[in-house]
Amino acid sequence: MSTSSVNQRNGTHRSSLRAHSSASTSAAAHKPSLKSKTVLRKSSPAALGSGSSAAAGSKSGNGGDAGVPGRVRVAVRLRPRNGEEMIADADFADCVELQPEVKRLKLRKNNWDTDTFEFDEVLTEYASQKRVYEVVAKPVVEGVLDGYNGTIMAYGQTGTGKTYTLGQLGEEDVADRGIMVRAMEDILAQVSLETDSISVSYLQLYMETVQDLLDPANDNIAIVEDPKSGDVSLPGATLVEIRDQHSFLELLQLGEAHRFAANTKLNTESSRSHAILMVHVRRSLKTESNGNSHMTKSLKPPVVRKGKLVVVDLAGSERISKSGSEGHTLEEAKSINLSLSALGKCINALAENSSHVPFRDSKLTRLLRDSFGGTARTSLVITIGPSPRHRGETTSTIMFGQRAMKVENMVKLKEEFDYKSLSKRLEVQLDSLIEENERQQKAFVDEIERITVEAHNQISEAEKRYANALEEEKLRYQNDYVESIKKLEENWSKNQKKLAAERLALGEKNGLDITSNGNRSIAPALEEVSELKRMVQKEAQLKMAAEEEVNRLKLQLTESKKVEVSGNSEIMRLHKMLETETQQKEKLEEEIATLHTQLLQLSLTADETRQNLERHGSQKTSGGALDSFMSQLKLPQIQDPGNAEKPPVAKLFEQEANQQQIVEAGGLTSLLMLLRNTEDETIHRVAAGAIANLAMNETNQELIMDQGGIDLLSSTAANAQDPQTLRMVAGAIANLCGNDKLQTKLRSEGGIAALLGMVRCGHPDVLAQVARGIANFAKCESRASTQGTKRGKSLLIEDGALSWIVQNAKTETTAIKRHIELALCHLAQHEGNAKEMVKEGAIWELVRISRECSREDIRSLAHRTLTSSPTFLTELRRLRVDIR
Ligand code: ADP
Ligand code: MG
Repeated sequence: MSTSSVNQRNGTHRSSLRAHSSASTSAAAHKPSLKSKTVLRKSSPAALGSGSSAAAGSKSGNGGDAGVPGRVRVAVRLRPRNGEEMIADADFADCVELQPEVKRLKLRKNNWDTDTFEFDEVLTEYASQKRVYEVVAKPVVEGVLDGYNGTIMAYGQTGTGKTYTLGQLGEEDVADRGIMVRAMEDILAQVSLETDSISVSYLQLYMETVQDLLDPANDNIAIVEDPKSGDVSLPGATLVEIRDQHSFLELLQLGEAHRFAANTKLNTESSRSHAILMVHVRRSLKTESNGNSHMTKSLKPPVVRKGKLVVVDLAGSERISKSGSEGHTLEEAKSINLSLSALGKCINALAENSSHVPFRDSKLTRLLRDSFGGTARTSLVITIGPSPRHRGETTSTIMFGQRAMKVENMVKLKEEFDYKSLSKRLEVQLDSLIEENERQQKAFVDEIERITVEAHNQISEAEKRYANALEEEKLRYQNDYVESIKKLEENWSKNQKKLAAERLALGEKNGLDITSNGNRSIAPALEEVSELKRMVQKEAQLKMAAEEEVNRLKLQLTESKKVEVSGNSEIMRLHKMLETETQQKEKLEEEIATLHTQLLQLSLTADETRQNLERHGSQKTSGGALDSFMSQLKLPQIQDPGNAEKPPVAKLFEQEANQQQIVEAGGLTSLLMLLRNTEDETIHRVAAGAIANLAMNETNQELIMDQGGIDLLSSTAANAQDPQTLRMVAGAIANLCGNDKLQTKLRSEGGIAALLGMVRCGHPDVLAQVARGIANFAKCESRASTQGTKRGKSLLIEDGALSWIVQNAKTETTAIKRHIELALCHLAQHEGNAKEMVKEGAIWELVRISRECSREDIRSLAHRTLTSSPTFLTELRRLRVDIR
C-alpha cells in the first residue's frame, strides 16, 4: 500500500513522497536503498484545496488584500555524527540516506526497507551554515525587507542542531554563523538607517508563559491580536532598536545568558523552551515621481513597509516521557509540551485544509498565527540526527516536516500609508511656503521702493537736462539774432555803398548832361556828399581796424607776459655768452698784438737777411727765409702766448711810418706767403688783418695787387670758417676797392666776386666790410664817370652787386646801412646805371634815403642824384612820386 501526494503551487512542482516498502521487489533484497524507489505521483487530493493560485487568491479574506499564496518551505538538515555516535554507532549505518541532488531523503526502516521523502531542500551533514542560510532563510528575509511577514522555525529532537542552525553566533569561526546573525547582516545591509528602522524583541516561551529575554523581570507578556488585521503583537515585550551588527550580537548573547539563568531558576533545560526572536523592519519607500505636479506629489502620503521576521528555535520535539530525568508532574509535562503539540495540530489542520485551525490552543500557535499558516512566508528547517537509535524521533520529525509542506500561507504585503508623516511633511512645506511668501512680499516692497527712487532720480535728471537744453537753445537763438542783425547791417552798408556808387556814376553822367545843359550847380554838391559818405565809411572801417588792433595788442600783451619769464632767462643766458665772447675777443686781440710785434721783428730780420744776401750774392731761396720766418713766427706764440711785458704793438701796422718800414722789409710779401703757404686759419686771420692795414696805403695797394693779393685773399675767403677771418679779408679787399687806378684789375681778378661771395657768412662785421668795399668801388666809379673816363654800366652792377645792395638797404645794422646808402648814391651818379637801378627797385631805396636818412649829407646826395637823373625823374613822374 502506498500513498503519495503531489502539490502544485504557483507553477512549481513539489512532491511529497511517501515511499512504500516493497518487499516483493527482488532487487530490494540485495540493495534496499535502490529497491525502495517506487514513486507514485497522483493528482493532489483536496488536502490543501485546489492548489490553484486563483483559488488561493479567493481564499484571502482580508478585505481585498492582494495576498500571494505561498507554501511553507521545508528543508531537512542532518547533523553530522557527534563523538559519541562515532563510537556507539560505529558499526551501524545512518538511519537516513540523503539525496540532495534530487532533494530526497531515504529513511531506513530496516536493513532492506526504506521510505523516501521529498523536501524543498535536503541539507546533508556537510552543508555549510552559509548554504543553509541561503536556501532556508534568505528568501524569507528578502520578503521581510519587501514588507511581508516571515517566519523561520527549527523543529527537531534535542541535540540535532536547531540552535546551531538558528542561533549560532560564530564568534570563534565566522563560517559557523547561524541564521539569526546572517539575517540581521542582510537586513542591515539593505536598509538605510536614516529612513528605516530595525527593532528586536527576544522572548522565551516556557510552560505557556512568555518571558522577555531582554528583561528577565518581564516574565509574563501578553499576546495581543488585532481582530481586524489579525496582526499579532506583544506590547509588553522589550523592543530594542538595532543600528549595527555588533549591538545585535550583544543582544543575542544577553538573551542567551538570561535564558540560561531563567532555566536554572526554573530547574529546567533550554531544550524544553521555545526561543523566539522577533525582528521588526520598517522601511520608507521613496515615492516615485510620476510627472505630476509638486503639489500632487507632496500630497501623496509616504509609503511605509513593515515586515516582521520571527525566528523560532522550538523546544525539542522528543516526548517528555522519554527525556525522563526532569521529574515534572504530568500536568507540568503536558504544559511543557502544549505549545509544540498545538503547533503540530495546527499544521495538520492547515495541511488538511481543515475549516478549523486550533491556533488559540496555545501561546505558541497564537504567537505564530500571523506568521505560520497565516499571511507570511515561512520556512521550516527540520533537524535530524544520524543515529539509528533515534529512528523513531527522526521519523516523527520527518513526518512533521512532510505535513508542514502541505501548509499554504497567504502572503500579505504589509504596506500602509503614513498619513502622520505626510501631515508632518505638509506642515513643514506650508511653513516654508509661508516664510517664502513673507520674503517675497518684503522683496516686492523693496523693489517698489527702489523703482520709486529710481523714477524720482530720472525725473529730476530729465528736468535738469530740459533746463540745460532750454538755456542752450536760448543762447543759440540770441547768437543767431545777433548774427543776423550783423548781416543785415553789413548788407545795408553794402547796399549803401552800391547806391552811393550808382549815384556817383549817375551824378557824373548827370554832371556831363548838366554841363551840356548849362546847369552846373548840382554836380559838385553830389560829389561832395558822396565824398563825405566815403569818408564816413572809411572812418568807420578805421575804427573797426583800430579796435581789432587793440584786441590783438591785448592778446600780444598777455602772450608777451607769458614769454617774459622765459625771455628773462634767455637774456641771462645771452649775457653770459656775451661775456665769454668778450673775454675770448680780448684774448685774441692780445694774441694778435703779440703776433704783430713778432711779425715786425721777423720782417726786419728778413730784410736784413735779404740785404745780406744781395750783398754777398747768395743763392738762397726765399723758401728758406720763409721757413725761418715761420718758425720764429710760431715759436713765441707757443712759448709765451700771453706775454704781458711786451710793449703794446696793436697799432703797429696802422701807423704809416711803421707800415712803410714793414713793407720795405718784405713784410707784405711774407704776409701774402703766409696766406698762400699755411692752412692755419689763425695765421690767415692775423695775416689778412695785417694786409688790410697795409692796404690802406695807396702804394701798398698797388704792391698787394702786383703780388697776386686778390687771388690769395679770394682763396683765403673761400676756405675761411671764422667770421673774423672773413672780416679781415673783406676789409683788405674793401681798402683795395677805394683805389681809382686799380678798379679794372681788381674786378678782373675776381675782387668783387670774392667780396660778394663773403656775404654767405651773414655776420654783420663781414657784411659791413663788404658794403664798405662796394661803396668804395662805387665812389671810384662815380668819380671816373664824372671825369669822363668811365662809360657804360657799373662793374658792380655787372657782377650782380645791385640786387644784394637793394636787399640789404633796409638793414638795421648802421655800419652796413650807411655804406649801402653811400654805394647807392654813388651808383646813381652815373646815368648809365639808372635804368638798371630802376629795374632792380634801387630807385625806391634812393627815394627812401632822400626822405629818411639820418645823415643830412647822404640824404641831400640821394635827393640830388634822384633829381639830376633824367631816367629817375621820368620814372618818378610816371609813378606820380613827389620827391620835393
Ligand atoms: P538542539 O538545539 O537541537 O538541541 P544543538 O544545536 O544544541 O541541538 O546541537 C547539539 C550539538 O551538536 C552541538 O554541540 C552542536 O554544535 C552540534 N551540531 C549540531 N548541528 C551540527 C552540524 N550541522 N554540524 C556540526 N555540529 C553540529
Ligand atoms: Mg537548542
